[in-house]
Amino acid sequence: MSLRGDYDPDNIFARILRGDVPSVTVWEDDNVLVFMDVFPQSEGHCLVISKASKARNLLEVEPKALGRLIGAVQRTARAVEKALNPDGVAVMQFNGEAGGQTVFHLHFHVVPRWEGREMKGHGHAPMADMDELRALAGRIATALD
Ligand code: AMP
Repeated sequence: MSLRGDYDPDNIFARILRGDVPSVTVWEDDNVLVFMDVFPQSEGHCLVISKASKARNLLEVEPKALGRLIGAVQRTARAVEKALNPDGVAVMQFNGEAGGQTVFHLHFHVVPRWEGREMKGHGHAPMADMDELRALAGRIATALD
């Protein structure tokens, strides 16, 4: 899918937001949902999405929704750092298929990184164990400010 086009109301994140598809929530408020990536590129890989915006990518998003998303990214990255003690945190965001995007509901990746530990390839990571994801989400949620 190119950078231009219509929002698909049946994309996987829209279905997660509607509760039609299960996900492992880390935290949420009225505006954002933060949940575990089921194909994590490293342990603790979180996704941050807007609940209200129908933006498919960064180019389309309303400034107010973007501000809320970035605030949620920072809050999540701080909790990930506190809970998992990584050496670094990669924040990633892809736009359009040619830009590496596979789900067309705007989202930010928060990926903890450890020195000497390779990050799995984007779109090439195996599916995680759900109990492990739930345990990680709990640890991150406990560390939220
Ligand atoms: P992107 O390629 O930037 O659009 O990222 C989409 C992300 O969504 C990838 O990292 C996928 O692993 C992740 N993903 C796809 N389906 C699900 C799902 N059902 N629950 C959680 N994460 C998902």
